[in-house]
Amino acid sequence: MGNGRSIHILRDAWIPGIRNLRYELCAGSCNQRDEQVCQLEDQVSSLIDPSINWWNLSKVRALFNQKIADAVLRLHPSASGDMDKWLWGHEKSGIFFVKSAYRFFKTCLVSDCGEPSNGAMMKKIWNPLWGLKLSHEVKVFAWRACKKSLPTKANLINRKLDISGQCCCFCQHQVEDLTHALLLCPPVYEIWVRKFTGLQHDFHISSFISTAMEIFFKGSTNELTDFFLMAWGF
Ligand SMILES: [Zn+2]
Repeated sequence: MGNGRSIHILRDAWIPGIRNLRYELCAGSCNQRDEQVCQLEDQVSSLIDPSINWWNLSKVRALFNQKIADAVLRLHPSASGDMDKWLWGHEKSGIFFVKSAYRFFKTCLVSDCGEPSNGAMMKKIWNPLWGLKLSHEVKVFAWRACKKSLPTKANLINRKLDISGQCCCFCQHQVEDLTHALLLCPPVYEIWVRKFTGLQHDFHISSFISTAMEIFFKGSTNELTDFFLMAWGF
């Protein structure tokens, strides 16, 4: 990590051991997330005291629970204020290669074949997803969303993790599973309907991957790109 200016606190995977900070915070306490959401929608540099090029300890401790704060404090911001550097986690060198990403997705595809119904759809989405003009972070996100392997509250509960309830952090009404979080939560759904007006008539949402397939086959590659990019932003 460098000066933290190009790293978004919530959207980027910058804390070792924490894949999705938004969900980690949500799993801990919805209230905390609501109160501090403005500060969290900032760059990591906002957590660094520029006079000493080190973490603003009181801010880090106030924003995060102990586990996350400790993980943050183990990171060393650049003492000389260098730019941040992105490392690809699936190569020891940290350097991103197209071949490496291809291998990673292929592994996911093979491991998904154990689930026949979803596996068939995963194979169909493989080529379109791979060919999209998206960053590798968004492709990994899209792939995991299609596989339903994002850390939603429903998934965390399935893995026996102790979280403070299963309701969606935004609407507080429905169980936060992947389809709800990325598609059906009312404010999110409203955005989808506005964006995909041409598909609205036939817009049957049953799962993230089937919606992606529907958009691809009835829409276009550009629309599928927008679909994944927008979902990534939620
Ligand atoms: Zn909701």
